[in-house]
Amino acid sequence: HADQAMYEAKSRGRNNLRFFSLAIKEAMSQRVMLARDLKAALEKNELRDYYQPIVSLNTGKIVKAEALMRWQHPERGLISPALFIPVAEETGDIVAMGNWIFSRAVAHASKWQPLVGEAFAISVNKSPVQFVDPQRFHHDWGKILQDNALAGKHLVVEITEGLLLNPDPVVEQRLLYYRDLGIQVAIDDFGTGYSSLSYLSKFDIDYLKIDQSFTRNLNAGNESYVLCEAIIVMAHKLGLKVIAEGVETALQRDLLMDIHCDFAQGFFYSPPVPAEAFEQMLVQQSRQEAALLQG
Ligand code: C2E
Ligand code: MG
Ligand code: MG
Ligand code: MG
Repeated sequence: HADQAMYEAKSRGRNNLRFFSLAIKEAMSQRVMLARDLKAALEKNELRDYYQPIVSLNTGKIVKAEALMRWQHPERGLISPALFIPVAEETGDIVAMGNWIFSRAVAHASKWQPLVGEAFAISVNKSPVQFVDPQRFHHDWGKILQDNALAGKHLVVEITEGLLLNPDPVVEQRLLYYRDLGIQVAIDDFGTGYSSLSYLSKFDIDYLKIDQSFTRNLNAGNESYVLCEAIIVMAHKLGLKVIAEGVETALQRDLLMDIHCDFAQGFFYSPPVPAEAFEQMLVQQSRQEAALLQG
């Protein structure tokens, strides 16, 4: 019996090991495959720009949008950026991909801005890798804005806290470059990165985006509520506006309104959708407004 048990344990161990190394191999080959296919994805027109509405909590209107990348893979279907962005950051493809989605956002912002008004802006996520890329200043966003007759203020660049702790002077240069073009800056996933808040006074920031992990746990008076409230009070005193991410319920929206949050984004309003669908939402919204004004 002891021998039998020993034998079973050993073979289980071996099997576990085999299973384990198979899983690693699979994960690795998936990464290699993603990296290889990603190279061609941009040229083959497989990348998609989706847009998620950002709603003003003062008016209940869609006033902004976040551009989010999707990959329409010919065999695997729609792939999440959580899977392919880290791979693109490793291979460096994120630079070309980031420029692509930024151009799409510029074109769409110039088309959609008149439907909404002066406050309209599309925000685009910028990977830290894009900030330290040697090609970084070869893209003339000033010209691209001009060609699209778009004021820079209709664009927001979303960065994460970690980037602002990078002492490389290029980070500040890049932020000043955006500032000169009038492009706004948001801190994404605020509250999840670092406890140092000194960068908020060092850099010129326009928005804090409260991370979904806070929004998800919001309940009247609980810890997340207190943290959100404190973030909003601080932000407002520093002259920043606050966007809550991951709003999924009416209760979360109501609580955020109680503590004077400026904007909300989340499945409660809409998931990210293709450009045509987002445009339909804006058209419908402006029709409703026109009807209200007439009636
Ligand atoms: P993020 O910038 O924080 O974007 C918000 C994410 O939350 C999006 O995931 C969005 O679909 C999701 N989300 C929105 N509302 C809700 C909600 O109510 N509940 C829940 N559970 N989730 C919600 P997505 O599109 O999968 O993107 C994931 C991350 O990938 C983004 O996080 C961003 O860091 C990165 N990413 C996406 N597109 C780009 C891009 O064009 N460039 C770069 N560099 N990164 C991107
Ligand atoms: Mg974002
Ligand atoms: Mg993010
Ligand atoms: Mg976020």
